Amino acid sequence: MALRLHNTLTGSKDVFEPLERGHVGMYTCGPTVWNFAHVGNLRAFLFYDLLRRHLHVAGHRVVHVMNLTDIDDRILDQAMHANKTIAEYVKPYASAFFEDMAALRAQQAEHYPRATDHIPDMVAMISALLEHEHAYVADGDVYFRIASFPAYGALSHLDRGGLRAGARVAADKYDKESVSDFALWKKAQPEDERIGAAWDAPFGRGRPGWHIECSAMAKRYLGATFDLHCGGIDLMFPHHENEIAQSEAANHKPFARVWLHSEHLAEATGEKMSKSAGGFTTLRDLIAAGHDPLSVRFFLIANAHYRSRIRLSTDALHAAAEQVRRLRDFADRLRRSTPAQGEDEALLQRISEVRNGYREALDDDLNLPYGVGLVFELLREANAALDGDRVGERGLSELRALIDDVDAHLDIVSADEPGLADEVERLIAEREAARAARDFDRADAIREELRRRGIALEDSKEGVRWKRVPAAAR
Ligand SMILES: [Zn+2]
Repeated sequence: MALRLHNTLTGSKDVFEPLERGHVGMYTCGPTVWNFAHVGNLRAFLFYDLLRRHLHVAGHRVVHVMNLTDIDDRILDQAMHANKTIAEYVKPYASAFFEDMAALRAQQAEHYPRATDHIPDMVAMISALLEHEHAYVADGDVYFRIASFPAYGALSHLDRGGLRAGARVAADKYDKESVSDFALWKKAQPEDERIGAAWDAPFGRGRPGWHIECSAMAKRYLGATFDLHCGGIDLMFPHHENEIAQSEAANHKPFARVWLHSEHLAEATGEKMSKSAGGFTTLRDLIAAGHDPLSVRFFLIANAHYRSRIRLSTDALHAAAEQVRRLRDFADRLRRSTPAQGEDEALLQRISEVRNGYREALDDDLNLPYGVGLVFELLREANAALDGDRVGERGLSELRALIDDVDAHLDIVSADEPGLADEVERLIAEREAARAARDFDRADAIREELRRRGIALEDSKEGVRWKRVPAAAR
């Protein structure tokens, strides 16, 4: 079966064929590093990871670009309050983003361009838009002229009459020709200079608007026309609509061919889940509450299809942790099993069906939850067959191949060296004994050894808990 992906532009699941056979160019909107990423952002980022992994499974080479927005209004505000340059202000949040991605086992993209490193590309694109009268200068700011781009609204299937009426609220604040025109460039204010947020341009000193960043960086790394553009559904309008208008008006070529959008993540109401200062939950909050990043990963990609809404709750995370445990226990059991004499032909048949079904589910617009469901059904049968010593050499190797298929997307089975948990528990017990004997040097030495191996300990009322710490944070 061919890979089919839901294209927001056409509104249907279409067979996916890259422009160049076996080679996919993919642009995904990345974080604005004004704060820690919240779990909703992480859902979109792991959706990109799932897509990227399945493109690999389907035999494509992938050039994946994920931008870091390191200049926008929130960053300017925060940097000014903190009395820092924008570069100083975003640094810890950019590092935190990479730590979160590593902890969640997202594969690395080929490029992580930062907006402030690509100002000349943005200036060139804005100059081209001005030249062809798709843009105009008003009081030092530069705006895109939506009236010059008749295809505006095609992605979000928007009617332009409604757009104008609906957006009238902020009209008086600007010298725009039309309320829906959006900023490509904002005139430098005196305070922007102090925080390093102003650049020279032929149309006046200033800073880029958010939308132009993605258009310029996508073109730089993938060319004017490329295969896939992804983002969370909240970016579809106006951000992606604006990207299309700018890029196609400036380049005179089609922009992204296929658009994929992942749905919202809601936080369960009435639940006390610890939240960071911004009023949203981050991966750090979940880890501090004792959740394993692998359970968070499983919850975000495998609990629901990427185009369905999901709700974050403690129960859902516990259920995900249980599924992670079951799959890992099963993989562990396969590693330790010795083959039975005979083969169970019916089981072999079932494994083959499930392997095919799993692959078909992923080819059907990345339906990982359905595929994983098939696998969990089989685990019950396979465990019973292992109990009854009915799994021979072929059965074991087919089951291992199935787990490898699943782990190509989930990446939760091979995540740790086998036996790590036992080893950590043993060292924790030894440290407890040392503390009870008031041998604090030994206790500290054990904590330090675990820290070197990427394990952090937390003393709590219930005893000692441990968690993995991403390499970058050690
Ligand atoms: Zn973007």
